[in-house]
Amino acid sequence: MDIEKKFDVNAWARPNIRQMKPYSSARDEFHGSASVFLDANENPYNAPYNRYPDPMQWRLKERVAEIKGVPKECILLGNGSDEPIDLIMRAFCEPGRDAVLTLDPTYGMYEVAASINHVACRKVRLTPDFQIDLPALMQAIDGSVRAIYLCSPNNPTGNSLERKDILYILEHFEGIVVVDEAYIDFSSQPSFIQELDKYPNLVVFQTLSKAWGAAGIRLGMAFASKDIIALLNKIKYPYNVNQLTQEKALEILGKKEQMQAQLVQILSERTRLQKELTSLPLVRKIYPTDANFILTDVGDADYVYQKLVERGIIVRNRNRVALCAGCLRITVGTPEENEALLNALKTI
Ligand code: PMP
Repeated sequence: MDIEKKFDVNAWARPNIRQMKPYSSARDEFHGSASVFLDANENPYNAPYNRYPDPMQWRLKERVAEIKGVPKECILLGNGSDEPIDLIMRAFCEPGRDAVLTLDPTYGMYEVAASINHVACRKVRLTPDFQIDLPALMQAIDGSVRAIYLCSPNNPTGNSLERKDILYILEHFEGIVVVDEAYIDFSSQPSFIQELDKYPNLVVFQTLSKAWGAAGIRLGMAFASKDIIALLNKIKYPYNVNQLTQEKALEILGKKEQMQAQLVQILSERTRLQKELTSLPLVRKIYPTDANFILTDVGDADYVYQKLVERGIIVRNRNRVALCAGCLRITVGTPEENEALLNALKTI
């Protein structure tokens, strides 16, 4: 028998956050149409940018809700996914007392956000094939761990984490489980968004920065239960997504076919790069990837990185990252950019 998972957001929220009264902006207090707006101390000229944007970004959320099949009340939009990474810590982790758990190696911002918030960050080393060491992870959980940050496909390794391991964690850990899916569009794995109804402690992050090609506008998305989203809404900056970003995001999300065409191109270039890189004498190994980058073992990564810089080609040197000694993280570019990279690597 399936026992429905329970998560009481009030029991897990920091007491001060649970009790606080959020800021109420002029835009929060009046909804509807009117002809004269004298409520927000705006300059009456320079329309439309004289006005504060919708603090809850409802038009944009309606579009995201349609695309992702999630109710709009279950969506938080932020200044990149970096914002909800931080909001989760501020909502659930008591500074100087609580901890979060994450993997090693993984996206560096989880640890940075933890440091900023004075929250301990416990890192559980991945197995040599970059999967979750489930016994070690479960052992690292104690009463102070409030949230676990997982990233799948993982950065910088590129692989997806085993779905069954993530489900196991969702079932056995009582606190918040974040699954950061920044690279999900490049993967053949299904999104964890579909599991939101089943796991009230799940938070899924996605972003417009990768497949949607819009890192410059800074729009991250968090999907979770209405209760978790309501708590995060309480503590976000009132106007955390500016008007220009809201407009541009609506425009970009209206061009799904363009995104999909670019995705096809990137995935085909990824396959070509994988093949070509493997055949280079310099390359010792490439790791399997579900993302738009390839972790590539080149031996002397510092040397190869420097040689590429001299040719005007910048990749990410991951030589000093756990389990990644000798590795460069190479983003899939245009066919011309990939060609330039391959040609340069041939002459190093
Ligand atoms: N999550 C992961 C796993 C990432 O690799 C990145 C960016 N490199 C981000 C989140 C940040 O995304 P955003 O641009 O939405 O802040």
